Amino acid sequence: MGRWAHLYALPQWKRLRALHLREHPLCVMCMEAGDCERATIVDHKRPHRGDMRLFLDPANLQSLCKPHHDSSKQWEENRGMSGGCDADGNPLDERHPWNSNRKRVTS
Ligand SMILES: [Zn+2]
Repeated sequence: MGRWAHLYALPQWKRLRALHLREHPLCVMCMEAGDCERATIVDHKRPHRGDMRLFLDPANLQSLCKPHHDSSKQWEENRGMSGGCDADGNPLDERHPWNSNRKRVTS
């Protein structure tokens, strides 16, 4: 956190974070791997870089366990895409191969 620590202290964020963890209690990356690890961290899919709209956008959040949160940045660099999926387990990132396959099928 460091640089944006003051944002994570905001009551709006604490409320949003608690709500997100209640609705999405499991780590999205564990679910992708078929595990059911309980999430302890709410991560921003798109880095907010201090942008309050991104920071407080419920659609920009994903639940992660600590090991996945700590490795996600490196994972993104290696794969060139962000993690995260919707309730059906489909990746949210358009660059994910699953999504390009789906587009080919429907078009
Ligand atoms: Zn996990």
